[in-house]
Amino acid sequence: MDEKFDCIIVGAGVAGLAAAMVLARSNMKFLLIERGEFAGSKNVSGGVLWGHDLAKLVPDYWEEKEAGWERFINHRRLTFMDEESTFSLDFKSSHFNEPPYSGVVVLRSKFDRWLADKVQDAIDASDYAMDSFIATNILVDQIIMKDDKAVGIKTGEDEFFADSVIIAEGVNNLLTRQVGLQTQYVPADHMLTGIKEIIRFDQKELEDRFQLNGLSGMSNEFVGWATDGVEGGGFLYTNRDTISLGLVLGIKDMREKNKSPHDVLNHFKSHPAIADIIRGGEIVEYTAHVVSSGDKRAMPKELYKDGVLLAGESANLLMNAGKAIQGMDYAMRSGILAAETIVKAKEKNDFTSATLSGYRKALDDSYVMKDINGFQDAVHLLHTPTMQHDVPNLICDFGRQFFTIKNEPTPKSKDMLRGAIKRHSSYWDLIKLGAKGAKAL
Ligand SMILES: Cc1cc2nc3c(=O)[nH]c(=O)nc-3n(C[C@H](O)[C@H](O)[C@H](O)COP(=O)(O)OP(=O)(O)OC[C@H]3O[C@@H](n4cnc5c(N)ncnc54)[C@H](O)[C@@H]3O)c2cc1C
Repeated sequence: MDEKFDCIIVGAGVAGLAAAMVLARSNMKFLLIERGEFAGSKNVSGGVLWGHDLAKLVPDYWEEKEAGWERFINHRRLTFMDEESTFSLDFKSSHFNEPPYSGVVVLRSKFDRWLADKVQDAIDASDYAMDSFIATNILVDQIIMKDDKAVGIKTGEDEFFADSVIIAEGVNNLLTRQVGLQTQYVPADHMLTGIKEIIRFDQKELEDRFQLNGLSGMSNEFVGWATDGVEGGGFLYTNRDTISLGLVLGIKDMREKNKSPHDVLNHFKSHPAIADIIRGGEIVEYTAHVVSSGDKRAMPKELYKDGVLLAGESANLLMNAGKAIQGMDYAMRSGILAAETIVKAKEKNDFTSATLSGYRKALDDSYVMKDINGFQDAVHLLHTPTMQHDVPNLICDFGRQFFTIKNEPTPKSKDMLRGAIKRHSSYWDLIKLGAKGAKAL
């Protein structure tokens, strides 16, 4: 193929597909290349796609009952766990019931494939119906650089040329390094391994067990005993007739503690509260994938250079301050902003970093970088031993006393709390945590 594209996008994950949708709608001629057999075939996610950007890309997506999403979230739970007990903050609200939903659970192999079909529809409706392509089963080996400007890609012996390249290759960002946008290896303590099982139930049984109504769903995050002493956390999300149950575990900590993700997941599943939840379910899928920690120090210093932009987790755009993992929504928004920048560059016929720097500005002005910058202290706090162990143990210890009724005089709650603090932490540590937490959140 001798023709030149306006843009080549590498990777048909959430970031690449979002970028492709914007380019197709803006009548741009582009090539989206994915190494997997189909979009989503290589992708793993817990996962809840948060926010309303999906509605921008696929208006009224909720009208499609067989669409790529599983359930909308109207029930959120954060659970502290010790060996015997769970103590949850539980929030369910019908205000979440109206579309566009504030979060939808997705299974990536289904969701990405569905979104790719929507992109194809947009290509078909564009002026470049015969000239823009989604190409799967192709691994991009190299970004072709000329005078330090990206001018195309190489796959095997084949070369394809374009005015611009969007790298949306995900967390294992080899091409990002190749073009020199990330020079340092990200330290292992900024990276996590995510593992997940999909467990199937009879749909009615699942809906009864989790009190789901229609397509409503629940997201549950876990802190404490779940990770068997390894830095990280657990999650559970309800799909149509399955649940996604898994963990994200610090790679460095896991290695130092000589633990395997599989063993830690079995440990999590052995907790009495989890065993009750998954009883009778059948494991139908097991997946693992690296995921960023949300520590900003893992981000490349710059997200653009002449002819090239980075979107999604290839730039380590992710946040997890304990409330939720936000990686897909960041990928989607950054893909949208990257494509909008390319559209502007095409209007000016200038794909140099002078124009592409507008992407960095747009991202800095968006909630993505505002939140990444604003919640770094919370990300760090979540990974401290106090938050990982002491606080969950203390809360569960207090819960056991508070909810136990004996035929004896009942101590005052403040005395129960004082005892729990003494057993698991100290006033001084909690004062420090409170001061830091108030600032961080
Ligand atoms: C266990 C787990 C749970 C998670 N839970 C959540 C959650 O609940 N909510 C949330 O928002 N996020 C969650 N995340 C994070 C989220 O999955 C990622 O942040 C998100 O997928 C990043 O999207 P992306 O498009 O940047 O990259 P990816 O989704 O990784 O897509 C990159 C694509 O590029 C392709 N590719 C890579 N290299 C090449 C190449 N050289 N040539 C061609 N194609 C290439 C890959 O095959 C892939 O399809 C979770 C992650 C894990 C691992």
